[in-house]
Amino acid sequence: MKKLLLAFVALLVIAFVAFQVPAVQDRLVGAVMKRNMDNRDRQALFADDAMRLLVCGSSSPFPSEDRARPCLAVIAGGKFYVVDTGSGSWNRLALLRIPGDRIGAVLLTHFHSDHIGDLGEFDMQTWVAGRPGPLSVYGPEGVEKVVSGFGQAYELDHGYRVAHHGAEMLKPEYGHMKPITAQLGDGPQPLFTDGDLRVSIFPVSHAPIHPAVGYRFDYKGRSIVISGDTTKDARVVAASKGVDLLAHEAQNQEMVARLAATAESLDRPRLRKVFHDIPDYHTSPVEAAEVANEAGAKLLLMYHLTPPPPKALERRFLAGVSDIRPKGVALARDGMLVELPLAGGEPVVTQLR
Ligand SMILES: [Zn+2]
Ligand SMILES: [Zn+2]
Repeated sequence: MKKLLLAFVALLVIAFVAFQVPAVQDRLVGAVMKRNMDNRDRQALFADDAMRLLVCGSSSPFPSEDRARPCLAVIAGGKFYVVDTGSGSWNRLALLRIPGDRIGAVLLTHFHSDHIGDLGEFDMQTWVAGRPGPLSVYGPEGVEKVVSGFGQAYELDHGYRVAHHGAEMLKPEYGHMKPITAQLGDGPQPLFTDGDLRVSIFPVSHAPIHPAVGYRFDYKGRSIVISGDTTKDARVVAASKGVDLLAHEAQNQEMVARLAATAESLDRPRLRKVFHDIPDYHTSPVEAAEVANEAGAKLLLMYHLTPPPPKALERRFLAGVSDIRPKGVALARDGMLVELPLAGGEPVVTQLR
């Protein structure tokens, strides 16, 4: 045993010394560079054998070490469609080596800052990656104002990049966003089609924020609904009837109440007021499970997690959910991938790294 320990320590010392040798460090640098740049293995995500959903941001306005703010990417027909662009979400997709030139469109659920922070980055980064045209940004009324504001904020940056890399590589006319304002009805309205992909939009309840919407994606017999920010709403149930995957926001109200009490005890009245105010326009995990049950959704993926739980507290976040929905529940983490095989079968949940 003692010999084994000595050998182990000796190995550690040798490895430590070896890592200081410039030639070894050079090899490591090369390996890391290649690993970060090589996205050939990611092309498989775009194969036409499944409809997929990739979590590019599972948090809410709360800060989190390992969760970006809200962002879900639906992958179908060789492209990805991004629902909300919370801050840190472009970075998450870049770390996951997702090819930016395959972006199909951005769809915004509403214009709270946690949902739009990275919009300018999505436009700029996918343009540099080779997006073959302006970026369409769908949303309810107000989307023009948001897009035009980001466009103005990034105008100088666009000029610098064209001057530096040349208009041949960075076509100036492709570098802009094209806002598309959706008209809302009481239920799902067709928004756009792209090949076999059909996307519809429906209103949800996030008062006093009007409008606020969710989206439904249908592709070759498989389907995904994304709730956006909402209270428990019969219109989400109606839009999600028989859906394969319902991505629904979730806020643990008991934890938020404890946050309010903690803020009170620390004499932080502004924080206490925020924690006191937010329960009335979000959905608890148990209510999200009720929505999924009423809709007959195969898999419920909770995202926009408030507060974003550390891994060790994920079970606590879901307290009470298994009583009414023992199966078919997942709690989003950044990089989580849900695959809906086009050949049929249950949703498959894995983690991209
Ligand atoms: Zn939000
Ligand atoms: Zn919101």
